[in-house]
Amino acid sequence: MNGNLQVMKFGGTSVGNAECIRRAAEIVARAAGEGSVVAVVSAMGGVTNRLIEAAQASAVGDIGAAGNLAETLRQQHQGAIEILVGDGDKRAQLAAELKEIIEEVTSLCRGTALLRELTPRTLDAISSAGERLSARLLASALRELGVNAAAIEATELIVTDNHSGRAEPLISETRERATARLAPLLAERSVPVVTGFIGATVDGMLTTLGRGGSDYSATILGAVLDAKEIIIWTDVDGVLTADPRLVPEARTLQEISYNEAAELAYFGAKVLHPKTLRPVSEASIPVWIRNSFLPEQNGTKITATGHPTRRGVKAITAMSNVTLITVGGRGIVGLPGVAAKTFTAAASAQANVLLISQSSSGNDICFIIDSGDAARTVAELRAAFASDLAHKEVEHITVNADIAIVAVVGERMRGTPGIAGRTFSALGRRGINIIAIAQGSSEYNVSLVVEAGEMREVVQALHSEFGLQRRASRFESVESESALASV
Ligand code: ADP
Ligand code: ASP
Ligand code: MG
Repeated sequence: MNGNLQVMKFGGTSVGNAECIRRAAEIVARAAGEGSVVAVVSAMGGVTNRLIEAAQASAVGDIGAAGNLAETLRQQHQGAIEILVGDGDKRAQLAAELKEIIEEVTSLCRGTALLRELTPRTLDAISSAGERLSARLLASALRELGVNAAAIEATELIVTDNHSGRAEPLISETRERATARLAPLLAERSVPVVTGFIGATVDGMLTTLGRGGSDYSATILGAVLDAKEIIIWTDVDGVLTADPRLVPEARTLQEISYNEAAELAYFGAKVLHPKTLRPVSEASIPVWIRNSFLPEQNGTKITATGHPTRRGVKAITAMSNVTLITVGGRGIVGLPGVAAKTFTAAASAQANVLLISQSSSGNDICFIIDSGDAARTVAELRAAFASDLAHKEVEHITVNADIAIVAVVGERMRGTPGIAGRTFSALGRRGINIIAIAQGSSEYNVSLVVEAGEMREVVQALHSEFGLQRRASRFESVESESALASV
């Protein structure tokens, strides 16, 4: 639609308070002076969690949860309005708009508490309120800077299927709607400030794209609007060689490929929602990850090729809140259909199977899922294997929630000799027990399952084994590391 368009997404911390919202507005205003911008905004930090907690408390009959929520939201957002908007009339008008959204969400919580029932559809409606509030704040902050801006509900733009809580976009419908709605605004040099995280079905039922989904909103819009680039503004300098909360000396990567970034996101790098790269990789639209608190830094550029001539380990990721499920027993060797039955059961529980692993005995089928899916999955497995368990063909279905997945990620690693060896000997030297090794078909990672309590040590050990730590310059390219020459 516009060869000069930038889509800029601001995460929860980047719009966490009035000062951050003003900083975000300044970033957008600067870009809007040079070309077209569509802003995509997350809820203020912590708001989505608070909304979900209030919904869940209401579902078990806590009548007071709605009122407490309303008061917290009012205070947080009203505080920001007072700092951001100078003119009294405009301030009152914005406060009234936000109040209406807060009342809507409060009524939904009250209804939930009365019925003691929380449907996925209602949960989506409640959890979407944070973005609806913050988009209006950012649009107002932009107008304060003299930029023509309009808050837009993504329900008018992003068309999805009807899977509440994890909806998928319907791209051609989204392209049609988003273009029809946004092109006139962009033509009059207005900046649309779109609610991240949210979409709606063709019939207009509100859906959400999953936690952390505003990154996905930004790339969906960037793809359908044929943006020049997408910039994801967050609270770290870019994609780092590890989560800086686990490895303080982690370093910013200058450029990585879509495949590497997707692998990192899938295996726990929270900086990107796992589906973020899907919409843009085909059209090769570059995605930048940049620090909204230090906008003068370059950040990380994600492109089709990354550093095409280099290979080797780029980063270490970690994932906790996952559960290892084992279906096993001597009887399952050669028993037909066990794998099929196992994964059919996981699929009926709608579990997100993160990896399938090999246990040392070979008598087991192990797989890892999000811990939130564990109870449902085990129930499905017990039902599916009821008669095998009774006849002792399957001896056990066990659950271990005390584990973590650590992945070593980089371009074309499969078949690169030495990486697995170095990984295992680095951990062996420290006496760390590897519970299972992942059998991924991807060329981009080697992953292992370790005890949750050892996750931090494992990540740090592998980060230093592959020489990823920061040196003189934070932006020094990892690809120039001598340690990589040998992998
Ligand atoms: P936002 O609210 O901007 O969407 P998130 O909290 O979702 O931000 O993601 C940013 C966080 O991701 C960082 O603060 C960092 O702790 C975490 N993170 C995990 N792994 C990485 C990594 N490899 N590189 C950068 N950040 C990472
Ligand atoms: N606000 C939503 C969440 O907390 C979406 C996002 O921030 O990306 O999950
Ligand atoms: Mg995020």
